[in-house]
Amino acid sequence: MLGIPIVQVEPTNHCNRDCDICMRRSQSRALGFMDLEGFKAFVDLNKPSYIGFHGWGEPLLHRGIVSMVAYASSRGSVTSLITNGTLLSEELAEELFKSGLRELVFGVYRFKMLEEVSSKIALAVGLKERLRVKRPKIVVDVTVYEDNRSEILDLVREAANLGVEAINMHRIFNLHDPRHRALSPLEEQELFDEVKRLSRSLKFEVVLPKRHEFPCRIARYSVFVTWDFKVTPCCFLYNEVLAEGPHVKLKELAKSRAYKEFLSRGGLNPTCSRCII
Ligand code: SF4
Ligand code: SF4
Repeated sequence: MLGIPIVQVEPTNHCNRDCDICMRRSQSRALGFMDLEGFKAFVDLNKPSYIGFHGWGEPLLHRGIVSMVAYASSRGSVTSLITNGTLLSEELAEELFKSGLRELVFGVYRFKMLEEVSSKIALAVGLKERLRVKRPKIVVDVTVYEDNRSEILDLVREAANLGVEAINMHRIFNLHDPRHRALSPLEEQELFDEVKRLSRSLKFEVVLPKRHEFPCRIARYSVFVTWDFKVTPCCFLYNEVLAEGPHVKLKELAKSRAYKEFLSRGGLNPTCSRCII
């Protein structure tokens, strides 16, 4: 391992929604916004190859979000942003398009949520056509769990219909609320077989979650940086602080005892042992 090339950055943990599946509901962390100058310092020190702007909050609430993406892009990072889509305006979309953003992802988990933001998705798709640009790739991201199993095929059809370029699916992993259950491996296999058939018939890209393993890909190649610059192995382990501050050097962190111990503990970590991501 030469360093940690992939960084998931949490611009803020404020959110304008209160989704019932969100672990944000069970967190007692202070709320805040990432300091823009601190973010720039972190990028300059670490030059991540990829930065995903997404944490336990809505990134578009951060007033400096366009500057963050533009700065990271200008320093060579591939950038992706996941939003609930509700705050996207024509003006903001245009600024994001000009910032160098590679991927704009609309996160939903129920069909009615997709309907609610369909005008925002259409806005982004239309803007991309009007500007005749290749980037950002416009994607819908769906959290799959028991309660929306019957909606998944319709979500795929509607996402394709809206003109987005792909749909990503990932499993739910809510540590605190047992009401939100993931599909069993068999149910998942059956559903994903149906999804693959639909994807082929629509000629529409569907990215399905990979088999879970530990140390997982996320822990091996990336870190999560909270809005207040706590560097942790992933967003589910936001209390497992490996280092802190905007001046953390990820190359050094990758060689640190704390990081190596975390990886070598494997499934002994109580959260990782339950994780199915
Ligand atoms: S929009 Fe995202 S961060 Fe906000 S409450 Fe919903 S799932 Fe959580
Ligand atoms: S909780 Fe553990 S296994 Fe799950 S994504 Fe995070 S580091 Fe990986």
